[in-house]
Amino acid sequence: MNKVSYSDAFVDAYYDDISSKKFKDKSYKTLEGIYNEEFQDLIGVDLKMLLCGKYEKLPKIVLDNTQKEKIKKIFKYQDKFQKHISDLFKKHLDIHTCYYCNIDFINIFKTRNKKILTGYTLDHITNKAQYPYLALSLYNLIPVCYICNSKLKKEHNIGESVPTSSTFDFDTKVKFKTFMSNENLQIATENDFGLLLKEDFTDIYDKYIGVLELDGRYAYHKYKVIEMINKRKEYPDSRIKELAKLTEKTEEEVKQDLFGEYLFENDDFHKRPLSKLIKDISGELGL
Ligand SMILES: [Zn+2]
Repeated sequence: MNKVSYSDAFVDAYYDDISSKKFKDKSYKTLEGIYNEEFQDLIGVDLKMLLCGKYEKLPKIVLDNTQKEKIKKIFKYQDKFQKHISDLFKKHLDIHTCYYCNIDFINIFKTRNKKILTGYTLDHITNKAQYPYLALSLYNLIPVCYICNSKLKKEHNIGESVPTSSTFDFDTKVKFKTFMSNENLQIATENDFGLLLKEDFTDIYDKYIGVLELDGRYAYHKYKVIEMINKRKEYPDSRIKELAKLTEKTEEEVKQDLFGEYLFENDDFHKRPLSKLIKDISGELGL
């Protein structure tokens, strides 16, 4: 549910690396050379657009089986490109939590033997079996957790607006709601309230929420909401005001100290797990 934006430096490095890969069985021609000769007319865009174009600009041409097989021999994600692509992501991207769910950390870490390992898997947003020429497209790739990728999404479609789309606005359209009255906060256990993602006025993200089972997975994290409610009971606005005076901080700073530093910052959502949940519930609690 976090928007991904790949930097210009990453996009350039990605194109240079992938387009120049050579094929032994094709007289050492590069991917770019082969694509220009054999596939550009069929796909209708140049290789730069295909590899680095924004998600919503990627072509969606339905190919017959013979054409698909021909493309699969060149756009070989698993056998030829996976390691290069993975290395490029490691080098260029600052990865913290899953871009689909914001539940798990998927960061890079160093082993005792100084090897760099990744906590993420790269998902092909549009499935590469049906559209094999999208197997290497940067904006069709997204670092996500194992549960999102392999246990839930698999080959499913999660809708047109995805975290690599320029138009992805999940955070503003969809909010976590508990349906509690925030006047008295009479909540003691996880059974005393609901926790659902609700989209206002549209249903663009219906598939996204459904395929990734976000409601069921977040129900497990109701403890976080209870923690926040209990803290809010201890710190009503009058107490926050007092603390701000006492510590010579602004009320906003005091709220951040108490409830988490990502309460008001949307850009940094991907850095910590459950940050959208925390922000939306803060809204309900009048923070
Ligand atoms: Zn995930």
